[in-house]
Amino acid sequence: MFFIFGVSSKKDKLDFNQKMVCPSCGRYGRYEAFMEYKYLSLFFIPILKWDKKYYIRSSCCGSVYSVSNDIGAKISENGNVDLAERNLRLIKRGRVYSTKRCSNCNYETNDDFQYCPKCGTILK
Ligand SMILES: [Zn+2]
Ligand SMILES: [Zn+2]
Repeated sequence: MFFIFGVSSKKDKLDFNQKMVCPSCGRYGRYEAFMEYKYLSLFFIPILKWDKKYYIRSSCCGSVYSVSNDIGAKISENGNVDLAERNLRLIKRGRVYSTKRCSNCNYETNDDFQYCPKCGTILK
């Protein structure tokens, strides 16, 4: 008789949905919650979970935030959490569209150009 042990990590989407105005891009979107953890399995059945981390992702621009384990645990228990901006720590800012203006010819664009389409100057 032998045992099959395995240690893996996994990411689960939690049953959480909160409408919000995105702090990163200013559009209306939703927060979605994820839990990432490592687990030990015996015969492919998870018997121990640890190193849980909780993440929030905004649906509008895909910004990713981390939240404290307290809040994360509440989310995974019943999803009954009202997230405020101060609960979130930004990990990765999503795609934000902002107006760029060419310093050479004053051309304005909302598109994601690296160079001015009119005169070819690098846009900042
Ligand atoms: Zn956003
Ligand atoms: Zn230009």
